[in-house]
Amino acid sequence: METLKGQTALVTGGGRGIGRSVALAFARAGAQVAVAARTQTEIAAVAGECGGLAVQLDVTDENGCAEAVGRVEREFGRLDILVNNAGVATSHKFTELDTASWRRTLAVDLEGPFFLTRAAVPGMLQRGSGAVIAIASVASRTGAPYIAAYTAAKHGLLGLMRSLAAEYAARGLTFNCVCPGYVDTPMTQMTLDTIVAKTGRSREEALKPLLTPQRRLVKPEEVAAVCLLLASEAGRGINGQAINVDGGLVQS
Ligand code: NDP
Repeated sequence: METLKGQTALVTGGGRGIGRSVALAFARAGAQVAVAARTQTEIAAVAGECGGLAVQLDVTDENGCAEAVGRVEREFGRLDILVNNAGVATSHKFTELDTASWRRTLAVDLEGPFFLTRAAVPGMLQRGSGAVIAIASVASRTGAPYIAAYTAAKHGLLGLMRSLAAEYAARGLTFNCVCPGYVDTPMTQMTLDTIVAKTGRSREEALKPLLTPQRRLVKPEEVAAVCLLLASEAGRGINGQAINVDGGLVQS
């Protein structure tokens, strides 16, 4: 069903993993999709699959974020849906968390969404409609060991979306977070590599604590399905929410 027919979307981190699934789901639903990330070959491939636009972007670049939104608005005529998905995850014992890593995590996972959302909102306000979706995490809802920077950034991302949801509820815009547990993507494969390297466990043993209560990883398509609802007309009443896609891990 073409639930996004006539809509336009910008998906950051769209070159692989969750972002790629979101871009493909949106394109199948009839949206014009722009795919943004740093790796040109990956965004070109996904933009090709979507029949969309590849936008090379480092989300930590403030001017680059404004230019990316401007380019989408020029080429597609407007921007209806922004998906703040680009992100990085690092893990450290807290006392070994260096300032560069702390800053880098906050820059990509929190400041990038701020730059992009601030650039996208004026156009949305002018038209009186728009949906901003952030791919946050169960780490936006609860703490876990060794990921202090990631947890701080993802809690901040939820706070940013909720504040904007309150600020613009009467203006036709929605702001929501999707909060996955571990998803089967390159990021999770890297997490597994790190656990195996640091603990000497087998890959199978390393995977066990990452599984949801359903004894599996979340599929990127399951995250994309929630994004599709939040972006579509049927989801207009959902605003300021954090929707867990985690097999029941966090029940609130
Ligand atoms: P991947 O590592 O598989 O993909 C991340 C994407 O983000 C890539 O396209 C990457 O492209 C892009 N990206 C990273 N840094 C930047 C940057 N500075 N500027 C622009 N793009 C960037 O991650 P996932 O698909 O697994 O994760 C996507 C989102 O979902 C992240 O925000 C993550 O925190 C969140 N999430 C993931 C979970 C998981 O288990 N995988 C669980 C919960 C949340 P490039 O490197 O080319 O720039």
